[in-house]
Amino acid sequence: MHEMSLALAVVDQIDGAARFERATSVRSVRLQVGELAGVVPDALAFSFELACTGTVLEGAELITEQVAGRARCRPCTRTWATGMPPQLTCPGCGGADTELLSGRELQIVSVSWHDAPQHRPTHQER
Ligand SMILES: [Zn+2]
Repeated sequence: MHEMSLALAVVDQIDGAARFERATSVRSVRLQVGELAGVVPDALAFSFELACTGTVLEGAELITEQVAGRARCRPCTRTWATGMPPQLTCPGCGGADTELLSGRELQIVSVSWHDAPQHRPTHQER
């Protein structure tokens, strides 16, 4: 399952960083998910919960930010929302020489955690 391996990778990455920072627990994780990334949000939320079990992320809230798919036509520079399934031919000139500007994102934007008491509380929030 795509979402499970993604959730495990995310949890693994944050668990490592949290241990390094001596965080005692992770409160929330903000993830950017592109519309075209092929991730089912519900499946991801479920997988994330499972993947967090037994780590410092246990009980952490997963916040997903949807990123709309956008494409641009090289010849006429028009940009448009691709939708899903994505429309990748230019709605202006019908050309197929197009590039995807966004929509494939799958990245951790920020993590909010509780530090060990001897540390000054800092939050990795943007
Ligand atoms: Zn065009």
